[in-house]
This record gives sequence, structure tokens and C-alpha cells, in this order.
Amino acid sequence: MIFKTDINYRKQSLLKLLVTVQEHEAEIIKALYDDFKKPAFEAVFTETEYIITELKQTLKNINKWAKPEWVLPSLLNFPSTDYLYKEPFGKVLIIAPWNYPYQLAFSPLIAAIAAGNQVVVKPSELTPNTSKIIAKIIGKTFDKNHVECVEGGTEVAQTLLAQRWDYIFFTGSVAVGKIVARAAAENLTPVTLELGGKNPCIVDETANLKLAAKRIIWGKFLNAGQTCIAPDYLLVHQNIKTKLVGFLKEEIILAYGENPEISPDYPRIINEKNWSRQLALLENETILLGGQSNAEDFYLSPTLLDEPSLDRLVMQEEIFGPILPVLSYEREADLEPIISRYEKPLSLYIFTENKTFAQKVIAKYAFGGGCINDTLIHFANKRLPFGGVGHSGIGAYHGKRSFDLFSHHKAVVKKANWLDIPTRYAPYQGKLNSIKKLLKWFS
Ligand code: NAD
Repeated sequence: MIFKTDINYRKQSLLKLLVTVQEHEAEIIKALYDDFKKPAFEAVFTETEYIITELKQTLKNINKWAKPEWVLPSLLNFPSTDYLYKEPFGKVLIIAPWNYPYQLAFSPLIAAIAAGNQVVVKPSELTPNTSKIIAKIIGKTFDKNHVECVEGGTEVAQTLLAQRWDYIFFTGSVAVGKIVARAAAENLTPVTLELGGKNPCIVDETANLKLAAKRIIWGKFLNAGQTCIAPDYLLVHQNIKTKLVGFLKEEIILAYGENPEISPDYPRIINEKNWSRQLALLENETILLGGQSNAEDFYLSPTLLDEPSLDRLVMQEEIFGPILPVLSYEREADLEPIISRYEKPLSLYIFTENKTFAQKVIAKYAFGGGCINDTLIHFANKRLPFGGVGHSGIGAYHGKRSFDLFSHHKAVVKKANWLDIPTRYAPYQGKLNSIKKLLKWFS
């Protein structure tokens, strides 16, 4: 079923959503704090304002994005005019994770509405306060037949996945991504999978070490390391390791103080399960800084690990928490066996002043996206696609791409009748050379 394709209805819906999310901004910020002490600054920066900006940009561009797009016709079809019509898929299911629970539910939702779909959103059960406010906003803004929020955990997600959808947009872990892909295959439903991975961060001898340390610490410990594109582990040239580690420690203290537990800017691990998993990753490792924890509110301080061996647990799975292993390398050739032992990551970062080295790394490894001399910020440019490759995901979104992702692009050729070149029609006798020539000239 195709829902409201009327562009004015879509715009009204988005405008209404804009008003409602602005009205509830303080409640969302509080819910994020109640769920895992997400600092208000991070809640505004990475969640609420992000969504408000996205709504405004979508409203500004929706007419342009929704318009049939003229494309250059093929001369083989002469005379014709060719168009891409953007058509809603129909019924869309969005399943969101807990780490940016508001942003990652609403960002795809905005695009799905803009593209004219009917949407069901399932927020994460691990952030119950945010889930409740998401449900409240959606309930207040939309007709149930247009957009509905279904709260709940795994069972609810599986019940939803058992239904037939026209598109599924999933953000979460690789393991659940596979479950979603399997369920989607049952009805040949197209999917976007926004997953995770082990993101390398390389620092070579030529890097501006002080600034690199600042940007690495920011990208790693924002949201207490619970960011899909956070650097997972560092690969540091051995000659600058001691100096860089010194700067990393300084930056942690500058950002969160000597005791991050009392910093208002440092969130908690989402739940007991993930907190225990983090502590298990630290077992028998050499800690350069941090390692303090508190079971009461699932606190784990920003932690630097020294040279964990590659067969240790911490180097086998996505960390997704405030632990940063520092590994050193001697020669460029030492990087490959480490980076390539993992599935293609969602992001890769390289800190260097050596342009050739940076280009070599970019060309050599497959990864979703990344930065030279910074972390995370590729996420912020709406003109860049955001998504993984291989096990870190299928498909990409942001900006106009999000609108396109939730639209079927219907290709239509409008042929004129004033001329009809006869070469293609049977009988073919004597026409082979002409068709060969035509194909050569016009394709
Ligand atoms: P998750 O896969 O455990 O859960 C995500 C969603 O799937 C939740 O809504 C959950 O209820 C649902 N779910 C859980 N188990 C399910 C099952 N068996 N069947 C159906 N649905 C199920 O992920 P998470 O812990 O919420 O998020 C962390 C992971 O997400 C990390 O791996 C991280 O890298 C990744 N992530 C990726 C992005 C991205 O944009 N690529 C963004 C954020 C998080």
C-alpha cells in the first residue's frame, strides 16, 4: 500500500513534528539523562538539535527532492524525455538502538515521512525513558495510520519483523542485523542495515600529537565510548607512542577531571550487562589510565590499555564503551595484518601530516567512512553518505540520500511519436550492420 503521496500532507506532518519536538526538547534531554546520564550538552549537540536541523533542512528541500528528476535520455531512444519518479515504498519499519536513541529513531523517521511512507518505529527498550517520550511525541503528532511507535524489546521486534514490510531500516548490532536481514528476505523486503565494527585509528610519526590526542579523546569518550563510529583501538607509531599516551592522559583529565565519576560531562554504561562486559574486557590487561568502576550506576572511567595481544577478548569484539587499547607499530606493513583481521569497519581514522601515507591508507582499506586528522566529524556533513560496508552495514543515508533511500526510483521514458526509426523492428534481414553502428554511436 502506498500512503499519503501528497506533498502538502507530508510537509504539514513534518511541520507538526517540528513544533512537537521543540515543545518537548527539555523532556527529551531529561529522559536521556535519566537513561544513562547523557550530559545535556551532548543531548542537544548529538540528538535534539540534530533532529531540529534535519527537520528544517528536509522541509526546505522536500519540494526539490520529491520532484520527478529529468535525466539525459539515451540517443538510442531518440526522440524521448526520461524521468525518475520518487515513489514511496509504502509501509516502513524502523528499528532503533539505545546509544543515540532519539536521533537514530527520528532521523530515518523524518526521511521516511518526507518520502511519503507509512511508518512504524520501534525504539530501544534499553532506554525506557527516551522510548516513552518518543512514543509520546509520535502519538501526539501523527494519525496512527500514518506513523506509529511500538515500544518493546526483542519479542516485540520479532513480532514486527514477522509482518510484511515494504522497507526495513535497522540500526544496531551485526548479530541482530543478520536476524533482520533473514526476516526481510522472507518477503524480499529491501533493507538498510546500519551496524558497527572495530574502527581503527592510526597515528603516525608526523601527526600533530597534541591535537590528535584531543580529537581522539573527544571522539572516543563522547557518550562514554558508546558510539558506533568511535575509534575502537589505536595503532600508534612506536617512536611517538610515549609522547602520545602522555597527551591522551592529559586530555582525559582536561575533559573529565581527575575523577570522571563526578564530572557532569561523563555518561554511564547503558546497563549491567554491558557494564560487566566492559569489565570482562579489562581482565588481565595492562591499564595505562582509568579502570575505575562503580556497579551502582554502571560507571567505568575513561580507560587506556597498553598493547593488548590480538587474541585477547578486547581485540576480538567491538568494544562499544570507554576502553581504548593503544597498540604500536613499527613499519607501515605492520598495519595490514591487524586491520585486515577484522571485518570491514564502519569508520577509520588516520592522524598524519604525510599526505601520501593518508591516501595510501584510504585507498588500501575498505571502511564505511572516516576522517584524516579528526574523528567522528564525517557524520556531520549531510552531503556525505553515512553507512557501512560489508559487516558494518548495507546502504547509507543523510541529507538528500535519506529521502532517496526511502523512495523507489521509478524510471520512465516518454517516447515521442513524430519519428520512429525502424532499425529495431523485425524482419531483421540486412539490418545487422546498422544496429551495430547505432549501438556504437549512441550508447
Ligand atoms: P541491538 O542490535 O542489540 O539492538 C538494536 C535494536 O534491535 C533494538 O531496538 C532491539 O530491541 C532490537 N533487537 C534486539 N535483539 C533483537 C532480536 N533478536 N530480534 C529483533 N530485534 C532485536 O543493538 P544496540 O545494543 O541497541 O546498539 C549497539 C550496536 O549498534 C553496536 O554494535 C553499534 O555499533 C551499533 N550502532 C550502529 C549505528 C550506525 O549508525 N551504524 C548507530 C548506533 C549503533
